[in-house]
Amino acid sequence: MLVEINGVSKTYQSPDSEIHALRDIAFGVAEGEFVSIVGPSGCGKSTLLSIIAGLDAPSGGEIRVDGEALRGVSRKIGYMPQKDQLFPWRSIWDNVTLGLELQRQRDGAHLQRVKELLERYGLGQFAQRAPGQLSGGMRQRCALIRTLATDPRILLLDEPFSALDYQTRLSVSDDIHNIIRREGKTALLVTHDISESVSMSDRVVVLSARPGRVKAIHDLSELRGLTPMQRRDHALFHTYFNAIWKELELSA
Ligand code: ADP
Repeated sequence: MLVEINGVSKTYQSPDSEIHALRDIAFGVAEGEFVSIVGPSGCGKSTLLSIIAGLDAPSGGEIRVDGEALRGVSRKIGYMPQKDQLFPWRSIWDNVTLGLELQRQRDGAHLQRVKELLERYGLGQFAQRAPGQLSGGMRQRCALIRTLATDPRILLLDEPFSALDYQTRLSVSDDIHNIIRREGKTALLVTHDISESVSMSDRVVVLSARPGRVKAIHDLSELRGLTPMQRRDHALFHTYFNAIWKELELSA
């Protein structure tokens, strides 16, 4: 397994109470796999993702990446937050190369790669535009390209479509899914949207209400190879949707 989540727990301490956010979470993500984590609001999904991103430490258990215990932020991992977080005063080009700048990798080969990514995904002619001149879907693609620029093996996506309207969300999730597959990345997506998880992933991990524990893991390999749009039309889509819906219903 490329990513191993071994018995991860998280407790937040405040002066007068403790919040048990996660309890004994264990599952793995194989190289090239797309795994979604769904669960009711407040069950610790974002907490788990920020622990895997190395931005927060677990209270118990550990994360292993490529066989090594994770200690802090790793170059193998790229993190895409909820909002696209493009700086409005920087051009698209200056936004998508920001990660390279921060990691001191702003060299010819990396810049060429970013240029190719922008071209490949239809953003080449917008490189000098400001983010405000682009649609929500295009901005989301830029945010993904910024994350891909440093060539991480693992992408962590925290509700990346939540700020988009429904129609845009459908086409953007198709786009983002295709980019991630084509670039051969391993992805871990956090969402509260069951249809998003079933339309995009190889496996869905269902968490219970707080403290989040693994309630079920669904293997969607029968839908592998289909785009999110094609999956939404597949009979099995509803089977998985209903099964996950019931699990969430019972744990809410
Ligand atoms: P989700 O992403 O599933 O909505 P979160 O991971 O954001 O859930 O939060 C899980 C629980 O932990 C919530 O009850 C939240 O209030 C609490 N929590 C999250 N971050 C902190 C923090 N920094 N300090 C204290 N409590 C926190």
